[in-house]
Amino acid sequence: MPATVNILSRQPSLLNPILAEIRDQELQRDRLRFRRNIERAGEIFAYEISKALAYVDSDVSTPLGTAKVAVLKEQPLIASILRAGLPLHQGLLNYFDQADNSFISAYRKHEGDADHFEVEIEYLSSPPVEGRTVILCDPMLATGSSMVLAYRALLSRGRPAHTHVVSVIASEQGLRFALEQLPANVTLWLGAVDPELTARAYIVPGLGDAGDLAFGAKD
Ligand code: URA
Repeated sequence: MPATVNILSRQPSLLNPILAEIRDQELQRDRLRFRRNIERAGEIFAYEISKALAYVDSDVSTPLGTAKVAVLKEQPLIASILRAGLPLHQGLLNYFDQADNSFISAYRKHEGDADHFEVEIEYLSSPPVEGRTVILCDPMLATGSSMVLAYRALLSRGRPAHTHVVSVIASEQGLRFALEQLPANVTLWLGAVDPELTARAYIVPGLGDAGDLAFGAKD
C-alpha cells in the first residue's frame, strides 16, 4: 500500500494566501517576509498534522477546579533537511513546541555538468527514532530524492511508527517518486503540487530557490 497524500491548497484555508505570497517574485525580495511566510506555512501544517496524532486525557488544575484536557500522547520528532528546511522546521516547532529535533544535511553533488547531480547525505544529527512519530520537512519536493534519502538516513536511527512528510510545493514527478519509494506508514502533507520540473530540477511554476530566498545565494 502506498503512502497517503494530503494536498492542502485543494481546500479553502489561510494557507492559500500564504502560498501566494511565498510564490510572488516581488514579495520574495524581502527575505524576512519569505522566511516568516514559510514558517507560517509550517504552523498551518503543524495544526493539520496535529489532528492525526494520538492524545490522552490529562487533569489540569485551574484556579476554580479541574479541567480534563486532551494532551499529546507523545512528542513528535521534527526532522529537516538543511538549509532550506530551517524556516519550515521552525514553524512546525512553534506549534509542536516540546518536540525533539533532527537535522540532515543533503547537497546536490555535481560532476561537471550543471544539469546532472547526485544527492548526497553528509551529516545526520538525531536522537533515536525507533517507534516515534516523525515529521520530516523540506520546503520543495522537486525530484523527491533528497526527501527519500533523508528518510532512509533517519532509518539508521531506528524505525519510526509513522512519518509525516511536509513540503510547501511538490512537483508531480517528485510526488510520484516519493509514493514509489516511501512505505505505507508515511503521510505526505503538501501545500501544492506543480506540473513541471526543469532540467536543473527546479519546480515550475514553483517559487524559485527556497534556500537562496531564505538565506541568500551560496556562490
Ligand atoms: N529546490 C528549490 O528551492 N526549488 C526548486 O524548485 C527545487 C528544489
